[in-house]
Amino acid sequence: MLNSNVVKLSVFAVLTALAVNLFYPNLFWREPPVAITINATYDFIVVGGGAAGSILAARLSENQDVRVLLLEAGPSDWGNPIFEIPALGMLAYDTDLDWAYTTERQDGLFKGMENERSVWPRGKVLGGSGNLNAMVAVRGNRHDYDRWAEYTGDQTWNYKHVLSYFKKMEDMQVKELRDSAYHGKDGPLTINWMNSGPLAQKLVEAGQDLGFSNNDYNGKSMEGYFHIQNNVANQKRLSSSKAYLHSAMERPNLDVAVNSHVQKVVIENKLAVGVEVIRNGRKLTVSARKEVILSAGAIGSPQILMLSGVGPRNHLEDMHVPVAADLPVGENLQDHVTVDIAVGINESYTYRVDDFSSPWTLMQYHLFGTGALNVPSSLEVVGFQSVTPESKEKDWPDLQLHFMSIAGTSDFMRRLRYTEGVT
Ligand SMILES: Cc1cc2nc3c(=O)[nH]c(=O)nc-3n(C[C@H](O)[C@H](O)[C@H](O)COP(=O)(O)OP(=O)(O)OC[C@H]3O[C@@H](n4cnc5c(N)ncnc54)[C@H](O)[C@@H]3O)c2cc1C
Repeated sequence: MLNSNVVKLSVFAVLTALAVNLFYPNLFWREPPVAITINATYDFIVVGGGAAGSILAARLSENQDVRVLLLEAGPSDWGNPIFEIPALGMLAYDTDLDWAYTTERQDGLFKGMENERSVWPRGKVLGGSGNLNAMVAVRGNRHDYDRWAEYTGDQTWNYKHVLSYFKKMEDMQVKELRDSAYHGKDGPLTINWMNSGPLAQKLVEAGQDLGFSNNDYNGKSMEGYFHIQNNVANQKRLSSSKAYLHSAMERPNLDVAVNSHVQKVVIENKLAVGVEVIRNGRKLTVSARKEVILSAGAIGSPQILMLSGVGPRNHLEDMHVPVAADLPVGENLQDHVTVDIAVGINESYTYRVDDFSSPWTLMQYHLFGTGALNVPSSLEVVGFQSVTPESKEKDWPDLQLHFMSIAGTSDFMRRLRYTEGVT
C-alpha cells in the first residue's frame, strides 16, 4: 500500500508544477532582450512587430552587416500565459494588448451587437494579432495567388512560386502530411493538428459520408471538411514572434523596441528616410539608411501612411495633413464577414463558458493536452466548399465553414466582461 505522505507529496508536486506552468510558463528560459535605448540611425526600420514584422526583422538581421530596428507599439509577449495556452488568446480582446477597434454604425448591420458595432480585435503586442488569433494555418487558394500574379504582372506572386516559401517556413508535424509535396518540415513554424474533442471527429466523418475524403486544405485541393492545421508547438500557441523573433533578439545588430508608437514616416524628396516615434513619453526621430518597412497591420500601416501625407488628397486635406503623395491608401479594406448559425445537439460534446476556468479543464490541458483550453477559439473543424458551378469547375471554393463548439459574435468577450464579470 502507498504511504499517504507520498501520495500527498505527489499531489502537491503536480499542483505546484501546474501552477508554475500556468503563471510562469517561461520560468526556466532566458527572456529575449528588448532594447533599452535606440540609436539615431539604422539600415532598416521595421514598423510593427506583429505576424509579418517579426519575420521581417528576424530575416533581415541574419545579415550581420546591416543594423535593424523593430518598433512595436505594444509590450513584449514573453511569459504571458494567455499567449501560451491555445484557447486563452481571446482574453487579450478589449484589453491594453488589443487596439480594440469597432466599426462605425451602419444602417441595417450588427443589430444584435453592442451599440450595433462589430468588434475588430488587433493585437497590440510583440507577435501582433498572431498572438490572439485562432491559429488556423491556412494559406488561401492557389487560384488567388495566380490571380494576383496576373493582376500585378509580377510572377513571383504565382502559386508555384509562393509554395516554395510556404514549404520553407513550415515544420509540418502532422504525420500524414509530412512527406506531402505541399509541405515542408525544416522551417521554424510548427504546424500540427490539436487533440480536438469528439465533436471534431464526428464532423470530419460527416464530411466523409458526404463524399469529401481530402484531408489537407493546404494541399492539392481545398475542398472538404478538415481537422484544423494549427500554428502550435508542444500544445502551445506559436506566433511568428516565438517562431522567428525571440531567438533573433539576442543578435547585436537587431534592436527590438517595445512600447514605441510610430507616428509617421519622415519623407524627404519623395523618399522615406526615417520615422517619428513616441517612446517613454518622448518624440524621437530615427533615420533609415536603406529602408523603412511598414508592417503595422491592415489598419495600422495605412493609418501611418496617411499620417505621413500618403493617401487620398481630399481626405488628407480635410484632416489638415500636408500631402506628400496622392494615392488610394486605405481603400478596398474588406471585412471577413461571417454569419453565425447556432445548432443545439443532444450530447454534451460542446463547451460551456465555465469550462474555460474550471480546475479540471486546466488539469486536462496540462496533463493530457486535451479539453476546452486546448482548442483555439473553440474552432474544431473547418470546411471549404464550392457552391456555384463556376467555383466547382475551377476547384476554387467560395464558402468557408467554421465549426465552433461555443457560439458567439465578435463582441462576445466584451459582453462576457460586462455581464458575467470575466477578467
Ligand atoms: C481575432 C482574430 C483571429 C484570427 N484568426 C486567424 C487564423 O485563425 N488564421 C490566420 O491565418 N489568420 C487569422 N487572423 C489574421 C492574422 O492574425 C493576421 O492576418 C496577421 O496577424 C496579420 O499580420 P500583420 O503583421 O499584418 O499584422 P499584426 O499581426 O496585427 O501586427 C501588426 C503589429 O503592428 C503594431 N503596430 C500597429 N500600429 C503601430 C504603430 N503606429 N507603431 C508601432 N507599432 C504598431 C501592432 O501593435 C502589431 O503588433 C486572425 C486575426 C484576428 C484579429
